[in-house]
Amino acid sequence: MASLKESFSKGITAINVKTNSFMEESKCKTYISTLEKEIQVLKLNIGEIVYSKSVIGESYEEAVAEIVQQITGKYQEIEQQKKAIEQLAIEEKQILGTSQTVESVKFCSQCGAQSAANYKFCTKCGSPLN
Ligand SMILES: [Zn+2]
Repeated sequence: MASLKESFSKGITAINVKTNSFMEESKCKTYISTLEKEIQVLKLNIGEIVYSKSVIGESYEEAVAEIVQQITGKYQEIEQQKKAIEQLAIEEKQILGTSQTVESVKFCSQCGAQSAANYKFCTKCGSPLN
């Protein structure tokens, strides 16, 4: 999270901040779906253990409790990732909220007229804008 602010203070544009946080968010989302798949597998394992132990008349509580603990840990991890995504959105708003006013206007190098930042040519003299 600190890297977002750092990179911005180094003069990187709002677009970079957006791209950066988008990539961070994708990373979190990929991790969440991995965890969800792992949880599914662990739940299947519980069923497998309960069944196979029951068939031979052994107790399965201990083995199941261990897997339940693993699943709980993974759910907590998912919650943390979701919070990280929320935090990312908040940080992005904070950073872009202050920079957008600066970035939304361009000045023509030829005539000095003011144009919106997304314009490619000066609205007054037609010179290309950088
Ligand atoms: Zn101009």
